[in-house]
Amino acid sequence: MSPATPPPQPAQNCPLCPRLAEFRVGNRQGHPDWFNGPVPSFGPPDASLLIVGLAPGLKGANRTGRPFTGDFAGDLLYRTLIEFGFAGGHYGQRPDDGLTLNGCRITNAVRCVPPANKPTPAEIKTCRPFLAGEIGSGGGPRAILALGRIAHDSTVATLGQRLSAFKFGHGARHEIAGAPTLFDSYHCSRYNTQTGVLTEDMFRQVIGQIRDFLAAN
Ligand code: URA
Repeated sequence: MSPATPPPQPAQNCPLCPRLAEFRVGNRQGHPDWFNGPVPSFGPPDASLLIVGLAPGLKGANRTGRPFTGDFAGDLLYRTLIEFGFAGGHYGQRPDDGLTLNGCRITNAVRCVPPANKPTPAEIKTCRPFLAGEIGSGGGPRAILALGRIAHDSTVATLGQRLSAFKFGHGARHEIAGAPTLFDSYHCSRYNTQTGVLTEDMFRQVIGQIRDFLAAN
């Protein structure tokens, strides 16, 4: 079997969101040793599970160039993926830590770091074709995990569905005709975990539910 073709990724100097491009220029000046570009997806293009995050963190994925890597949220995410067999090796908070993803690919609804961690609705929409490419790639994932409401809403819009028909809810599972099954979790952000909105167990339950779903379907 030939390896699946990776879906198109934004150019390193992607100009599509002027505010994010301007922020990138400033970050490149201040931190020339950082990645400072649209962070490419991580994991095999033919993965059964696509995980959709929000956007790279300034000093995490924007610095390291790999989704969630060096971000607080990555600690819980990668620990849990390793526990459930979606990742192998050791997560060392750096892109050369040797961590591999098994049947799982990670992307972001917005590929460039936004100021104050808040992309605008226009930026989310502008970046959507890249999310569409991920969902449509390599035979397509069978399950999507949306981390947080923005990832959920952008995924539902990408699938051409109305948000009123598919509302975000932690632990929810959405069946959309002709599309991968969509699972939701609260984002594994520092804020959500430190305020108890998302506990480690709640997150483990969602990942376990997806593992069981993929084993049965
Ligand atoms: N890092 C990412 O790459 N995505 C997120 O959603 C959060 C942190």
